[in-house]
Amino acid sequence: MNIKEQIETLKELQRIETESVGIQSILDGISDRTTALDARVGDFENRLQSQEAALEALKKEYRGLEMDAKDLQSRMKKAKSRLITVKTNREYQALQKAADEMKRENSHLEDTMLARLDSIETAEKELAQLKEEYETFQKQMSEEKAAVEVEATQGQRKLNELNTIRTEVSKKADPRLVDRFMRVRQRISTLAVAPVTHAVCQGCNMNIPPQMFNELQRFDSLRNCPHCQRIIYWEKPPEPETFE
Ligand SMILES: [Zn+2]
Repeated sequence: MNIKEQIETLKELQRIETESVGIQSILDGISDRTTALDARVGDFENRLQSQEAALEALKKEYRGLEMDAKDLQSRMKKAKSRLITVKTNREYQALQKAADEMKRENSHLEDTMLARLDSIETAEKELAQLKEEYETFQKQMSEEKAAVEVEATQGQRKLNELNTIRTEVSKKADPRLVDRFMRVRQRISTLAVAPVTHAVCQGCNMNIPPQMFNELQRFDSLRNCPHCQRIIYWEKPPEPETFE
C-alpha cells in the first residue's frame, strides 16, 4: 500500500468512526428518552389517582352526612312525640326550643348535602374528562416510545453494518496502520486524521513546519501533526473560484 492508499484507508476509517460515534450517542440517549416518556405517563397516572381519591373522599363524606341526617330525623321524630305528652308550659317551651334547634340543624345539613352532591358531580365530570385525556395521552406516549424503539433498532443495525465495514477495511489494510489510527483515535479524538491545506493542520488550525509540509506533499511517509498529534496528509487546496 502506498502512502496515498494508506491515506484513503485512514479517511475511510475516520468516516466509519465519525458515523459510529454519532449513532452511539443517539443509542446512549435512548434509555433516558424512554424513561422520560414513562415518567410522563406515571405523572398522569398520579393525577388520575389523586382525582379518584378526592372523589372517593367526597362520597365518603356524603355518606357520613346521610347518616347524620338519618340520626337527626329520628331525634326530631322522638321530640315530636314527646311534645304530645308534655304537662307544663315550661317543658313545652323547652322542647319547642330543642325542636327549632334541630330544624335549623336539619336545614343546614340539607344545604351541606346539596353542596356535596354538586361537588361530587363536578369531580365525576373532571375524572371522566381526565380519563379521556389519559387515554389519548397514553396512546401518544406509546407511539412515541415505539418510534424511539424503532430508532434504537435501526441505529443498532447501522452500527453493526459499520462494524462489519470497519473489519473489512482493517483486514485489507496494514495492521500497523490500523493500530496507529486506533491509538490516535483513542488518545486524541474521534477525528484522528486531518488534512493539511496551505501548511495549516485542519485538525487544530496550527501551522505545520515548512520542512514537514514539503515532506507531506511528496507523499513518502505518514506524519503526525506536531501540535495535535493527529495523522495528517496533504490536501491540495481547492482552486480559487474565478468570477468571469
Ligand atoms: Zn494539528
